[in-house]
Parts: sequence; C-alpha cells; structure tokens
Amino acid sequence: MEKTEQLYEGKAKKVFATTDENLCIVSYKDDATAFNGLKKGTIAGKGVVNNRMTNLLMQLLEKAGVPTHFVKELSDRDTLVKKVKIVPLEVIIRNVSAGSFAKRYGVEEGIVFDEPTIEFSYKNDDLGDPLINSYHALALRLATKEEIETIKKYAFKVNEVLKQYFLHLGVKLIDFKLEFGRLTDGTIVLADEISPDTCRFWDAKTNEKLDKDRFRRDMGGVEDAYAEIFKRVTKGE
Ligand code: ADP
Ligand code: UDP
Repeated sequence: MEKTEQLYEGKAKKVFATTDENLCIVSYKDDATAFNGLKKGTIAGKGVVNNRMTNLLMQLLEKAGVPTHFVKELSDRDTLVKKVKIVPLEVIIRNVSAGSFAKRYGVEEGIVFDEPTIEFSYKNDDLGDPLINSYHALALRLATKEEIETIKKYAFKVNEVLKQYFLHLGVKLIDFKLEFGRLTDGTIVLADEISPDTCRFWDAKTNEKLDKDRFRRDMGGVEDAYAEIFKRVTKGE
C-alpha cells in the first residue's frame, strides 16, 4: 500500500491517505512535545519505538477481544491502519497516582489505587484538552451514550490486559491515555498509539521512570528509557 497525500501532521505523527479510502498510513516522528506544545524537542529513535511497540500491543489487545485500527506494520516508522473518525475524547486510566491527578488533588505520586480510575479530556488543543465528564461529552454530542459505554468497557479491558503483560516484564503500568475512533459503519475501535509517550511505566523494583516524564521533567536518560522499555517489550514476544 502506497502513501498518497498527507492528511494531517500532528505533534508526534503524520497521517497519509492511501489508494484505499478506508485505510491510512501513520508515520511516527522523533518529535516530542509536552505541556500542550509549549515544550518541544526530539527523542532520537522514539518514532521507531512507538511505532513497533504500539503495533505489538494492539495485536495483543485484538487477541484479547478489543478491536483496534491496526492492519499491518509497513516499516520501522510506518503502519497501515483503518481510517477512523476520532472520537474527540482522551480516555485516561490510572492505577497509581501521578502527573495531573497528583497535582489536582494535592497528593503524592505512587499511591496504589484499590480500583483503576477513568477520566476523559476533551481533545481540543485550543482549549488545552480540558477535563470533561460524560454528561458534558453527551451535551456537546462528542459521542453517544452507547459509544461512551463501549469506550469505558474497552478501556478497562485494555488496562487489565496491559497491566498483567507489563508486570511480567518487570514494569508497573501507572496510567495511560487512549483514543478511540469510528469506522465507516460506526464500529468503535481503539486507535492512535500506546507507547512511552502515552503511558507511564515505572520499573517494578526501583520505580525508575521508563517513559516521557523523563522528557517532560528534564530528568535526562530519555533515549535510554525508551530503549529499555522497548527491549523488555520485544523480549516479551
Ligand atoms: P496530535 O494530533 O495530538 O498532535 P499526533 O501527532 O499523534 O497527535 O497525530 C496523529 C493524529 O492522528 C491524532 O490526531 C490522532 O487522533 C489521529 N489518528 C490516530 N489514529 C487514527 C486513525 N486510525 N485514523 C485517523 N486518524 C487517526
Ligand atoms: N497523556 C497523553 N496525552 C495527553 C495527556 C496525557 O498521552 O495529552 C497520558 C500521559 O502520558 C499519562 C496519562 O495520560 O500516561 C495521564 O496524564 P496526566 O493526566 O497525569 O497528565 P500530564 O501529567 O501528562 O500532564
């Protein structure tokens, strides 16, 4: 399958049309941003890690019964996916307090929750992706009730599958962000990516951060962290 015109260039990926109107090609870049684009940089090799890791995890999730947009890995950075209309909600699942949760509620990072939490952000860069509840999402017609129920069900399933999977690799899955989309027939599928850009991963023994927080917080060792988590995931295959 060949790329035709570029449909979109985002902060971390480009999206291309193909000769099949139902398929597109996503191309992963090394560009990194944080704080709604305020902080910019590059992480050498990130595009390759995020592309290949996303594809491995999407295939694992398909097997576990979560439909995804994945079709075929084309190269180190390029993947053929089903074209979707993205539901403009960032779906965030948390197992342990960190990041904006810790800040918002004035608690330390690292509190293990009895049950995972779910929250939505309205995917809108101009507004800074504000937190939104499901009633507001319905009022704004961002998704239907049925779609929100399906998305919640899939998101918790993704958490169960990935939490177990990463624990076997000596990694705690702290939190992550998912995006879902609609196929032309309206079916909801998991889209976008699952990578160290979109998940928090802590080493199970040392709590060392193996994700984008190293970039966000200027901690150094960013490339090494991406390489380490990727090494563990590919060993897990
Ligand atoms: P951003 O838009 O936040 O800068 P990216 O750089 O990751 O993010 O750009 C990729 C874009 O492609 C995102 O807006 C994402 O919602 C969208 N996308 C992901 N998967 C698909 C898909 N299967 N079909 C269409 N668009 C997709
Ligand atoms: N996240 C993301 N994209 C966003 C916001 C958050 O992928 O635009 C991920 C982030 O990597 C983390 C989880 O969602 O794994 C929860 O992020 P949080 O709300 O704590 O926000 P942050 O601290 O990243 O601002």
